[in-house]
Amino acid sequence: MKIIVDFDRCEANGVCVGIAPDMFELDDDDQLTVAEGDIAADRVADAEEAVAQCPKAALRLA
Ligand code: SF4
Repeated sequence: MKIIVDFDRCEANGVCVGIAPDMFELDDDDQLTVAEGDIAADRVADAEEAVAQCPKAALRLA
């Protein structure tokens, strides 16, 4: 399972970074980057929480 970001919707408010800073990062230009590759089994719950809490509905898991 991977994290997919809709960059047209993301407004770089950092909610996901606060939930899972090991998977999401905002750079100096407020560009969101996400961890590449499959989500570790023990991190799926936090990834799902980030998806649920994103105020712009910019995240999904696939
Ligand atoms: S919570 Fe959503 S809108 Fe905010 S930085 Fe993360 S993906 Fe972007």
